[in-house]
Amino acid sequence: MFRKVLIANRGEIALRVICACKELGIRTVAVYSEADRNSLHVRFADEAVCIGPAKSALSYLNIPAVISAAEITNVDAIHPGYGFLSENAGFAEVCEMSRLKFIGPRPDVTRLMGLKQEARRAMSEAGIPILPGSPGALESVEEAMEVADKIGYPVLIKASAGGGGRGMRVVATPEDLPALMAQAQSEAGAAFGNADVYIEKFIGRPRHIEFQVLADEHGTVRVLGERECSIQRRHQKLVEEAPSPAVNDALRSEMAAQVESALAAAGYSNAGTVEFLMDEDGKLYFIEVNARIQVEHPVTELITGVDLVKSQILIAAGARLSDLMPDGTVLRGHAIECRINAEHPERFTPSPGRITGLNLPGGIGVRVDTAAHQDAVIPPYYDSLVAKLITHGSTRAEAIHRMQRALEMFVVEGIYTTIPLHQRIMANADFQAGRLDTHFLARMQSAAVTAP
Ligand code: ADP
Ligand code: ADP
Ligand code: MG
Repeated sequence: MFRKVLIANRGEIALRVICACKELGIRTVAVYSEADRNSLHVRFADEAVCIGPAKSALSYLNIPAVISAAEITNVDAIHPGYGFLSENAGFAEVCEMSRLKFIGPRPDVTRLMGLKQEARRAMSEAGIPILPGSPGALESVEEAMEVADKIGYPVLIKASAGGGGRGMRVVATPEDLPALMAQAQSEAGAAFGNADVYIEKFIGRPRHIEFQVLADEHGTVRVLGERECSIQRRHQKLVEEAPSPAVNDALRSEMAAQVESALAAAGYSNAGTVEFLMDEDGKLYFIEVNARIQVEHPVTELITGVDLVKSQILIAAGARLSDLMPDGTVLRGHAIECRINAEHPERFTPSPGRITGLNLPGGIGVRVDTAAHQDAVIPPYYDSLVAKLITHGSTRAEAIHRMQRALEMFVVEGIYTTIPLHQRIMANADFQAGRLDTHFLARMQSAAVTAP
C-alpha cells in the first residue's frame, strides 16, 4: 500500500481525495498556487507545497513543479483529480519515469481515449454503437463536406482533444460548414493545443447517459450503473442523477456487458466513464470516455455504497476488484447532484469574490462536497464550482424533495450562485416527470423570459 500520496489538484476534489487517503491511513501532500494559500485542501493535507502563481499554466498544469513537489516530499503516488493534468498522458508518463504511481489508466490508454475520434474507432471495433461521422480527424473542408453530405445535416463539428463542452459547432447547411469548421479548429487549437476536429451526426434532443467503470490492473472491468446528465448549459452538466429515468434493467445489463468487454479489450484500468447519447428512439450511441474520476461520481457512490476514490487508490496499489467488490454491485434508491457554481443564475457569468455568509445543509440523505467556508475567496482563475449538493432517497421523488429542502437551507452570501436556478429546475414539472434532454434548461430559461 502507498505510504504517501500527492494530490495534483485543488478545491473540492482535492479535499475528496484527502478524505479517501485519511480513511486508508495514507499520508497526503497538497500542492497549491499562490491564490490558494488559505484553502482547505492545504489545511487538511499532512504537508503542502506551493507550486507557483495563480495562473494554472504556471502552477496546477506545471508538470516540472508538480513532479519536484512529489520528489521533495517523497510520495509514492499522485492522484490527479479531474481537469488539470488528469487526462494528460505525457504527465502520466513523466510520473512513471520518476517512479511515481499515477492513479489512473496506463498512459497509452489515456492517450487513446483523449483523442475522441480514435476512441470512437476503438469502441466501434469493440462492438459499441457510435454515431455516423468522419472516420478520423478531418483533413480538409472538402472531406468535411463529403462526410456531412453522406450522413445528412445537421452535423456537429467536435474537437478531437475537446473537453468541458468547448470546441463544438452545430452545422445546419453546407454553406455554413467552412466558416464553422475554421471557428471550431481555432477554438480547439487555443483551448487544447490541438486544432484537429471531426464530424458527428447531430442528435436533436438527446439524453446524456454515462456508465461508471472500475477496472483493476489484472484485467477485470465492472460497470457500476449509469448516470443521467441531461441538464446542461453550453454542453456542460449542471444536474446529474443515478439511476437514469430512461434506463431499465434490461438496457442497463446489456450496456454493462458491452462496456465491460470493450474496456477490457482496450486494456483500461482504474476509474473511468463511458459517455453515450440516447436518441428519441431510446438507442444509445457512444460519444467519449473520460479517463478519470468525474465531477458527478458521488451520485454513483450513494446508490452503490462504493467509495470510488478509495477504489482508485486501492486499484493503483494492485488490488483486485474481486476483493474490493466481492458481491458485485446492488443499486439502492436514487441520488441527485446539483452543481453550485459561483455564477449569476440566469446569465451564467462568473461571480468570483468573498463568501461573507455560509450555511451548509445537512441531515438524512444529504451530502455536500465543497472546499468553501465562511470568508473563503473564490478566485477568478479556475473552474466556478463552489460546492456539490447531493441527495439520496429511496425513490426519485424523495431525492427531489430532499434536494428542494436542502437547497432552501443552503445559504451563500457575498457572491451569486446557481442555487436559485436549481430550485427552479427541481420544481419544474418536466424534470419531476423525468422528461429530460440536453435542451431542457434552454427551454426552461426561454419559458421564464416569455412568461407574462
Ligand atoms: P465531468 O465530465 O466530470 O462532468 P466536466 O466537463 O465538468 O467533467 O469537467 C471537469 C473539469 O475538467 C472542468 O474544470 C473542466 O473545465 C475540465 N476539463 C474537462 N476536460 C478538459 C480538457 N480536455 N481540457 C481541459 N480541461 C478539461
Ligand atoms: P466534452 O468532451 O466537451 O464533454 P462530449 O462529446 O462529451 O464533449 O459532449 C458534451 C455534450 O455535447 C453532450 O453531453 C451533449 O449535450 C452535446 N453533444 C455532443 N455530441 C453531440 C451530438 N452528436 N449531438 C448532439 N449533442 C451532442
Ligand atoms: Mg463529455
